[in-house]
Amino acid sequence: MNVLMWFRQDLRIHDHAALTLAAGLGAVVPVYIFDPEQWARSDTSARQFQFIAESVEDLRADLASLGAALLIRTGPVAQVLARLCARHAITTIVTQGSAPRALTDWAAASGIAWLETEQPLQGEPLPPPALRCVADLISTPLPVPQLLRLGPDACAHRQRGGRGQALDLLNTFLTTRGESYHRAQAQPHSAERASSRLSPHLAQGTVSLRELDQAITARLAERPSGRWASALGGFGRKLAARAVLPPCPAPDLAAIAATSALNAWLLGQTGLPFLDALMRYLAATGWLNEPLRALVLSLGVHHLGLDPMQASAGLARRLTDYDPALFWPQALRIAGLTAEAPRLFHPIKQALDLDPDGQFTRHWLPELAAVPDSCLQSPWKWAGAARLLGRRYPEPMIDIATAHRAAQEAIWARFGRPLRVVAQPSPTLIENPAQPLRGQLRLEF
Ligand SMILES: Cc1cc2nc3c(=O)[nH]c(=O)nc-3n(C[C@H](O)[C@H](O)[C@H](O)COP(=O)(O)OP(=O)(O)OC[C@H]3O[C@@H](n4cnc5c(N)ncnc54)[C@H](O)[C@@H]3O)c2cc1C
Repeated sequence: MNVLMWFRQDLRIHDHAALTLAAGLGAVVPVYIFDPEQWARSDTSARQFQFIAESVEDLRADLASLGAALLIRTGPVAQVLARLCARHAITTIVTQGSAPRALTDWAAASGIAWLETEQPLQGEPLPPPALRCVADLISTPLPVPQLLRLGPDACAHRQRGGRGQALDLLNTFLTTRGESYHRAQAQPHSAERASSRLSPHLAQGTVSLRELDQAITARLAERPSGRWASALGGFGRKLAARAVLPPCPAPDLAAIAATSALNAWLLGQTGLPFLDALMRYLAATGWLNEPLRALVLSLGVHHLGLDPMQASAGLARRLTDYDPALFWPQALRIAGLTAEAPRLFHPIKQALDLDPDGQFTRHWLPELAAVPDSCLQSPWKWAGAARLLGRRYPEPMIDIATAHRAAQEAIWARFGRPLRVVAQPSPTLIENPAQPLRGQLRLEF
């Protein structure tokens, strides 16, 4: 029996239940497909392509070590599969996870069995299987980004793909970086080091969740208490949340209409310093931690008035770890496109809380070097503003007080006014005049 193993977001040979199943069924044809339709979407980008290309190269080398040649094809998935099945007399296709219904229907109509396997989360990780390949398979080169019409996408500090990179990250995280995992989650300059940074690898499956779980368990046995135990517990909870994510296909998207406001936001040229610093950092690294992803999208949509789907697609393109199942549920909620009221952030308050000494903002906005600390997040208040704004750094795109109030009112009009009980009144509370206050209750937004 000849079996086609279609690799998708599972670019590894270790702990791979579908590959192990395929190997046990017969002679295998391992395949990875670059589908031009997927790469033409407005939420995909060259940085994501490069990461995947590096991971596919690594997979090719690992398969070669098992004596197997990885076929790399570029074209519409349905056509590529049909051609390969005819050419190699394929009787069964195996995938990790579920496949699009149109494809499985086509396979059924063509008399080809389609096996969708679930990757187990419990038990010992599987070793790479012994593979017998269909004879005379010749591995072909990867497509260049231009073939998929991907434009230039400079990302000087992009994470590299491949399993070796994932294992290095895991090792440094579990031995040194992870100890300050909780504290570092909040602040932009420490988050990069203290987060695991495994997200693009998990998105493309260069390691399995079960392998990570096993590594955490081993580390916890060495460090069963204190900061390490708490950090590893927090990290493990994130992985557990990922393990139960329901599939969420990316929505249909229009092409990005590059308005000047969207461009200014994406390029870090809005005139709001902390937001601009975050967007420049994102452009250069392909990564932000979770709260900061929420912050930049929320400010883009609710304060700058960007179209929510266009802003979300723009953010997705910037992420090396873009994974629709994780991205869209969060982006739609933050943008106010679900039934849940979105949280609103104040741009200056967030800047002062998250970058209190201004170090991060100054690093990414060198043109603000002459601005004193007291005006760094609101350079329009600086006595020397006339020499800077509209010349080396833009005037703010919005009047913050007006935009914040308008955003609040728009959200209140749609979702109703939120009521949150807080123990102590604080100067940042915003009271709801329509709702009389009783005792210590205050309304916070
Ligand atoms: C608007 C928005 C968009 C996002 N888009 C993506 C995306 O496209 N791809 C992506 O991988 N993550 C996404 N996230 C979640 C999160 O921001 C990233 O996973 C995280 O910042 C990646 O860094 P890390 O690997 O160092 O995370 P760590 O904190 O080290 O977490 C470890 C892993 O847990 C998983 N994880 C993290 N947060 C969650 C969560 N809330 N639910 C389920 N699993 C989680 C990720 O796979 C991550 O790699 C998004 C969050 C927001 C608010």
